[in-house]
Amino acid sequence: MNVISPRPVAAHPADLDCAQFAKGLFIGGEWRQTAARIAVVDPSTERVLAEVADASVEDALAAVEAAERAAPAWRAKPPRERSEILRRCFELMVERADMLAALISLENGKALSDAKGEVAYAAEFFRWNAEEAVRIAGDLGTAPSGANRILVDYAPMGIAVLVTPWNFPAAMATRKIAPALAAGCTVVLKPASETPLTAYALADLYREAGVPDGVVNVVTTSAPGPVTAAMLDDPRVRKLSFTGSTGVGRLLLAQAARSVVSCAMELGGNAPFIVFDDADLEAALDGAMVAKMRNAGEACTAANRFYVQSGIYDRFAAGLVARMAALRVGPGIDPATQCGPMITRKAVEKIGRLVADATDRGASVLHGGTVPAGEGYFYPPTVLGDVSADAMLMHEEIFGPVAALCRFETEDEAIRVANDTEYGLASYIYTRDLKRGLGVAARIESGMIAINRGLVSDPAAPFGGVKQSGLGREGGHHGVLDYLEPKYIAVSF
Ligand code: NAD
Repeated sequence: MNVISPRPVAAHPADLDCAQFAKGLFIGGEWRQTAARIAVVDPSTERVLAEVADASVEDALAAVEAAERAAPAWRAKPPRERSEILRRCFELMVERADMLAALISLENGKALSDAKGEVAYAAEFFRWNAEEAVRIAGDLGTAPSGANRILVDYAPMGIAVLVTPWNFPAAMATRKIAPALAAGCTVVLKPASETPLTAYALADLYREAGVPDGVVNVVTTSAPGPVTAAMLDDPRVRKLSFTGSTGVGRLLLAQAARSVVSCAMELGGNAPFIVFDDADLEAALDGAMVAKMRNAGEACTAANRFYVQSGIYDRFAAGLVARMAALRVGPGIDPATQCGPMITRKAVEKIGRLVADATDRGASVLHGGTVPAGEGYFYPPTVLGDVSADAMLMHEEIFGPVAALCRFETEDEAIRVANDTEYGLASYIYTRDLKRGLGVAARIESGMIAINRGLVSDPAAPFGGVKQSGLGREGGHHGVLDYLEPKYIAVSF
């Protein structure tokens, strides 16, 4: 039964009552409370926003059971009907965009403008996949021997477990849920426990849009290891789609191997941002601010290493310092804020260690670098100059508002240093010479490359990485294929 949920409104985004979304685990269309609770903290104020339910292994397996019960009817539903439900999810997300953005901003800390951008991006996955749901076509060919026809159909994989990070609480979930539902799969979502409220608010919205009970289940837990392992060991689960760190991804790949569960992995990044001497300086600076500062640097696609050719280096460094210095830092929920806090105190400490290591190895602090006193997990916009190749932050994700600049001389050198990483998610290239840009793009080892742009993400494009940044693609036509198995039928007419 579809229940119309109350429409939460608040006079000011900061007044949103977050506790209304902590109704329990969402299993089979019902809210299930647990004795144990997980506190959700506002990173801007360190105040507890709400406490959500804390799933045990038994709860998670009940969610798998609910997904299993809902599966036959969902996969049998005509694609047009699935499509229309997904379309309605898109429309409701757009209608509730302000409320969802406020919720994301409160639990994640990101600037309200970034949160609005995330809601728009997240909603698009429903619109795109509503269109995909009715365009899933197989193939028919003749066997080379001429003896029979080769018919290839696509079947939903089955129950999918979806594990998502805290940095895009809405988009990382909808980027998985929308194609899974379009393909005819039912799902159990395990969102990050730092930002679970958005996942639960969206669960309510899916139900209102007509998603049947049990098709989407949401469980939060303080024990992601055992809970996810139990679901992966359940033979009813056939798909794992994970977005998060490379370390946890490796662990889950090993666990999934036990039951040979199909895996999609969207993992960490270490994006190079290469600026050639002939680049349009203002465009490169605009792009750098987007690539570095969207979500205050807490993005897998965030520019991590800036390689700037020596002829433009000083002007680029001065321009970047001016722009970073002009940013307004504050609570994400304040509409004037451009750079919100980090997710946790631990994240601030990690960034501090990376910056200290870089300066110990000779980098100069061109701007920022000092953690402010007071409440909230803030790290200031920071620019480091002449960072050495062996600094830790050149090899691991900074995940914060720190731009590390290095000089280079030749194109070959830029490509060599850009590829000197185990990661391969996104890369950025600035040059006025498109031939050079495309030539460099061909030699860069990454799944996504932006030329003269600071943003790559697009629901209509295949998002994903090479090397240890992941397996598989989300978005575009590839997104829905990830939840389908080709089924080959040899047929004699
Ligand atoms: P994380 O790997 O710590 O956590 C991601 C998810 O995995 C969370 O839901 C968490 O609860 C769960 N998890 C943690 N330990 C687990 C375990 N032992 N077993 C099962 N599940 C476990 O990552 P994070 O800190 O939440 O997110 C940041 C990371 O995500 C960064 O590395 C970032 O680059 C990456 N990321 C990648 C993409 C992409 O599309 N490639 C997008 C966003 C974030």
